[in-house]
Amino acid sequence: MYSQEMYKYGSQSSVIRQIFAYSQARAQVIGKKNVFDFSLGNPSVPAPKAVRDAYETLLNEMSPLELHGYTSGPGDASVRQAIADDLNERFGTDIEGGNIYMTCGAAAALKIALCALYEKGDEALTLTPFFPEYRVFTESAGYKFVPVESEYGTFQPDLNKLEAAITEKTKLIILNSPNNPSGVIYNRDKLVDLAQLLYEKQKEYDHPIFIIADEPYRELTYGKEVPFIPTLYRNTIVCYSYSKSFSLPGERIGYVCVPPEVVSSQDIFFAVCGAGRVLGYVCAPSLAQQVIKKCVRVRPDVEPYRRNRDMLYGGLTRMGYECIAPDGAFYLCVKAPDGNTERFCERAKKYELLIVPGESFMAPGYVRMSYCVSEDTVRNSLPRFEMLLEEYKEG
Ligand code: PLP
Repeated sequence: MYSQEMYKYGSQSSVIRQIFAYSQARAQVIGKKNVFDFSLGNPSVPAPKAVRDAYETLLNEMSPLELHGYTSGPGDASVRQAIADDLNERFGTDIEGGNIYMTCGAAAALKIALCALYEKGDEALTLTPFFPEYRVFTESAGYKFVPVESEYGTFQPDLNKLEAAITEKTKLIILNSPNNPSGVIYNRDKLVDLAQLLYEKQKEYDHPIFIIADEPYRELTYGKEVPFIPTLYRNTIVCYSYSKSFSLPGERIGYVCVPPEVVSSQDIFFAVCGAGRVLGYVCAPSLAQQVIKKCVRVRPDVEPYRRNRDMLYGGLTRMGYECIAPDGAFYLCVKAPDGNTERFCERAKKYELLIVPGESFMAPGYVRMSYCVSEDTVRNSLPRFEMLLEEYKEG
C-alpha cells in the first residue's frame, strides 16, 4: 500500500528531535529559561543586518512577479555568477556561474550530488563523527554507506583507516569541516595527504573517486584556516548552505558547485540538473536567491559563538571534563565521565541539561552540545555541570 522504506525513515524520529521535543515540553512546565537545551543546531545569532535589509529592499523594489516567480531549474544566472565570482576572489579558483546549482540548503545539495554520482554497487565513505543524515541520504540513494573512524581524541582523519576502507567500489567520500558534531576543522596537511591517497587510489582502481565537501559551517571559524578542498583535490564537489552562516535555516537556500577541474565536469553538472529534476528540487526559493546575490560578500559575526565556545569549553575543562577543542561550527564534544553517554544524558536531565549522546554521530563515549544558545544559557548551565560531575566523583 505504501513504501516500507519511506515509512521507516518517517516513523523513526532522530534522537535530537526527541530531545528537542522533551525540551519543549519541559519549558511548558518550568519555563524556557530554566531549561538548558544544547540539542539543536539552530543558529542563535540573528541573520546579519545586511541580509535582513536585503529582504526588505527586495520586497519593496523588485516587481512581485519577478521576485516570486520561477527561476530556471538550476537558479537565476546572475545569482550563480555572483556566487562564482565571490568564490574565485576568495580562493583563486575559476568557477563559473554555470558550475553552480542553487538548492534548498545543504540537505538538498547533498542528496542531489549523491544521486548525480550514483551507479549500482557504489560505496560512499565518510569520516566519523558525522551528521546522521549522511546515512539516510546515501543509503536511500542506493549506496553502501561506510563510516571510517577518525583519530580518537582529535577527530582528525585517520589516513591508515581510510586507506583500508577504500575499495574498487568506492565512489566518493563525504568530508565535513568544520565538523558537526565535533567542531573540528581538518588540518591542511591532513587534507593534502588525504588528497594524495585518493589520487593513488584513483590510479589503482582506474576510476574517479570524488570528495563531496559538505560545508555549511565554512565561515563559522574562530581563527583556524578552513582549506577550500577543490584547491587541494580536483574531483571535489562542494555542497554549501546559508543556513548557518547567514542564520537562515528556514529559508532553505544553498548550492551544489561542480568546479570545472572535476573530471567530466559538464556532464556531471547535467547529472546534477537531472537529479534536481528527478527529486523535484528545481528552482530554489527565488527571493532567497536574490538576497544571496545582494549579500554574497557578507560574512557572519562569529563573536557570540566564540564567546559561548570559550565560556563552555573553558568552564567544562577547568571542572575536569574532557572535551575535544572546537575550532569552528557551534558544537562541542564532551566525554561522558564514565564513558556511558546514555547514563550521562539521563543524569544531566535531572539538572535540566539537555545534551545528545554521541552514538547518533558515531562518536562513542562523547555527547554533543550545540552552543548556539544565549550567553546566559551557557553561563547558568555551568554550575549545573559542576554538580553533575560531583555526582560521578561521589560514585
Ligand atoms: N550538513 C551538516 C553537517 C549539517 O550539520 C546540516 C544541518 O545541521 C546540514 C548538512 C543540512 O543543512 P541545511 O539546513 O542547509 O539543509
